[in-house]
Amino acid sequence: QPVKIGKPKWLKSKISSGEEYKKLKNIVDENNLHTICQSGKCPNQAECWGAGTATFMILGNTCTRSCQFCNVATGKGEELDPFEPLKIARSVELMKLQHCVITSVDRDDLADGGANAWKKTVDLIRKYNPATTIETLIPDFKGEWENLQYIIDVKPEIVSHNIETVERITKEVRIQAKYWRSIEVLDRLKKGGIQRTKSGIMVGLGETKAEVIKTMNDLRSVDVNILTIGQYLQPTKKHLPVSEFVHPDVFAEYKNIGMELGFTHVESGPLVRSSYHAERHI
Ligand code: SF4
Ligand code: SF4
Repeated sequence: QPVKIGKPKWLKSKISSGEEYKKLKNIVDENNLHTICQSGKCPNQAECWGAGTATFMILGNTCTRSCQFCNVATGKGEELDPFEPLKIARSVELMKLQHCVITSVDRDDLADGGANAWKKTVDLIRKYNPATTIETLIPDFKGEWENLQYIIDVKPEIVSHNIETVERITKEVRIQAKYWRSIEVLDRLKKGGIQRTKSGIMVGLGETKAEVIKTMNDLRSVDVNILTIGQYLQPTKKHLPVSEFVHPDVFAEYKNIGMELGFTHVESGPLVRSSYHAERHI
């Protein structure tokens, strides 16, 4: 019988409210857009949306993968909305974002893995928002490198791909993904000319400190620049249980180690998510 562990006080998040929050929610709802903030049940929604920033999720709201930590719905991929790239670009404009973060569900059902829609989205954001910097948090495209090339070619200012966890428990946590394939994605991005690459790790899934440090080293071995480390929170009872609530002091220690290893930015803290404080890394 697993022991039920209560949430410590450092994980309490704010309640959503305020004018900026409402404005942003209207833009998202009116355009029928999706955000990982909502679909992923992110604990920082009040803070980020209250400050006028959100992370859009493209290619629909249903993922063809079934990572055991993730709250996004799993199933057959939806039909693509041909106007989604334009709606995203116009929403970025309405929100007056200086830096925007876009992610997607995985579309292993599509021959191009969604790469054309990714390209179109980045192109249109640039067209309508020439001063806005773009960060794309991308899938591994199943290792079909000709599809990854679309992202390399449009050269977003930051390209992120999350390793999510340490090598030993990758299979349990991200069933369809592979640890070394993700490292290769990051390596290919950098070698292809992406100046700032980024990755993220969740802790509290049963990994050891030594394994977290080994993962940081693996990311640095392919010259990843930016790292986020946050506490895993179980979105529903069907998802993997939390094995540990990592103390804020340990997050601080990870940050120091990461900076010593040569990352230019390390966001490390219980409520840190991949897109948290993203505008600070540009
Ligand atoms: Fe959205 Fe990222 Fe902020 Fe969470 S941290 S609310 S996912 S922008
Ligand atoms: Fe969630 Fe995994 Fe799909 Fe990403 S690939 S949206 S983490 S289920």
